Amino acid sequence: MQIIDGKKVSAQVKEQVANETKELIKKGIIPGLAVILVGDDPASRVYVNNKKKACELVGFHSVEYALPASTTQEELLALVEELNNRADINGILCQLPLPKGLDDNAVIEAISPLKDVDAFHKQNVGRIMIGDYDFLPCTPAGIMEMLHAYDISVDGKKCVVIGRSNIVGKPMAMLLLHENGTVTICHSHTTNLSEITSEADILVAAIGKAKFVTADMVKDGAVVIDVGMNRDEKGKLCGDVDFENVKDKCSFITPVPGGVGPMTIAILMKNTLKAAKMQNNVL
Ligand code: NAP
Repeated sequence: MQIIDGKKVSAQVKEQVANETKELIKKGIIPGLAVILVGDDPASRVYVNNKKKACELVGFHSVEYALPASTTQEELLALVEELNNRADINGILCQLPLPKGLDDNAVIEAISPLKDVDAFHKQNVGRIMIGDYDFLPCTPAGIMEMLHAYDISVDGKKCVVIGRSNIVGKPMAMLLLHENGTVTICHSHTTNLSEITSEADILVAAIGKAKFVTADMVKDGAVVIDVGMNRDEKGKLCGDVDFENVKDKCSFITPVPGGVGPMTIAILMKNTLKAAKMQNNVL
């Protein structure tokens, strides 16, 4: 069994981004990311801080907008519009989910598709579907990057994705399909879940339930990718996979923390760099 080291792969991606950023800065272009955080959800605050730190590391300019939960839809959309029009901002990210009363989808659709570094805008989602895209969503793209880094081929493999969210499950399935995997998507209405998962050569868990995937659900020698970020009964960060009992059955497995999480941020940096290049015609 080999542990897929997301910290190591993400550091390599960020180093590449930092090197390319240095070259861009020589041309007078500093990639800029705006991060909008509404309300005071502690998990969202941690994610935003990590994104800011990554921006500093790779040499981007980043601006944070920490807005109160009482922010109105109109105020939020006005901010997005202002950022769409700012030349020093190449990427815009609004930390989701938004507090009650605010519409996630309206905000996603208001972000210019050219600055949509999360790749959540329907224009970008549609382009991913047909395989002609500028940006890929950070978490699924980060997973593909990890598979490549460990020379894990998807071609012809049985891939099972548990979860069908727009930000993880669905695009994950699409990226595996683009690389010629035979893909099954499972969700809360799936019957005989463990029968399906135990056939998977590559199993991706994106459910949001601590230690949901148990050893009996995993095929011997499978590659197991754990997207989950949960707290266990002791309040410790854990994934959707029962890591301790599953790991010995796998050929490869991602840990939580230190697996998918760091990759998500690294791809955000990669997307922002690409946005800066595209907006300045440096491709
Ligand atoms: P989500 O929108 O809540 O989606 C969860 C999916 O799991 C849904 O499709 C749901 O099915 C399915 N599901 C729930 N219970 C199930 C069950 N008993 N059997 C089979 N499927 C079941 O969550 P998400 O945004 O995709 O995130 C999933 C997890 O990944 C969360 O823990 C989140 O914190 C984490 N995450 C991590 C990163 C990272 O960078 N590491 C990034 C994003 C998300 P239905 O559609 O039928 O309801």
